[in-house]
Amino acid sequence: MKYPCSLIQDLLPLYHDGVCSEESRNIIENHLAECSSCKNYYHSLCEPDEIFAVPQNVELEMKKAASFRSIKRRIRTKQILAILFAFIIFAATGFSIVGFLKKSDQVISYDDNISVSMTDGSLTVRLQGSQANYLKIKKVESEHNGKMNTYLFFYMSGTKWDDIVTNDDVFSEYVLCADDKGAEYIDCVFYYTGDYTGIESMDIDNLQKVIDNSVLLWSK
Ligand SMILES: [Zn+2]
Repeated sequence: MKYPCSLIQDLLPLYHDGVCSEESRNIIENHLAECSSCKNYYHSLCEPDEIFAVPQNVELEMKKAASFRSIKRRIRTKQILAILFAFIIFAATGFSIVGFLKKSDQVISYDDNISVSMTDGSLTVRLQGSQANYLKIKKVESEHNGKMNTYLFFYMSGTKWDDIVTNDDVFSEYVLCADDKGAEYIDCVFYYTGDYTGIESMDIDNLQKVIDNSVLLWSK
């Protein structure tokens, strides 16, 4: 033989993959035709990979893959539940805060946000940046130095929620005393957020204290 077997066997992988030169291919084919040991070696190169010949390994790999998939699925289910739970807690907290703010009734304090005017014969209050849920109004008649004065005391209350969500550009209007309810006889309108107990029948001194703690919003 012209070439040593070791040289041919070194070249056989290249020949097997079809990447050797035409000259090498001729040399190898001539050698294989004469040399049985190199021919056997070449056939061993042509055999398929071992892994495909062992079916139990495939089964094992499939089992492993399936168990990884189930772990992944379980992790994903837990993540979805955690997100869902967090969302429910978040929504419940949000709703209860909003509910609390909507229920909380608070007296609206005077802060240049309230004005009273006589409109079409009715005394009307105009509130800026909030809404009133409740109006407390008391008419008080008081005689002073032989002259009868008629006062209107009032306050409004609203919810914290309205306070938060109502823009300062928003005004709401309420009638304090309509024209057919004697609006024309009212002398002064006060905003008073204090105690209204017995306010209709107070003597002049106590009434003066109430007036001192009030904001005069309108007078004849
Ligand atoms: Zn050989």
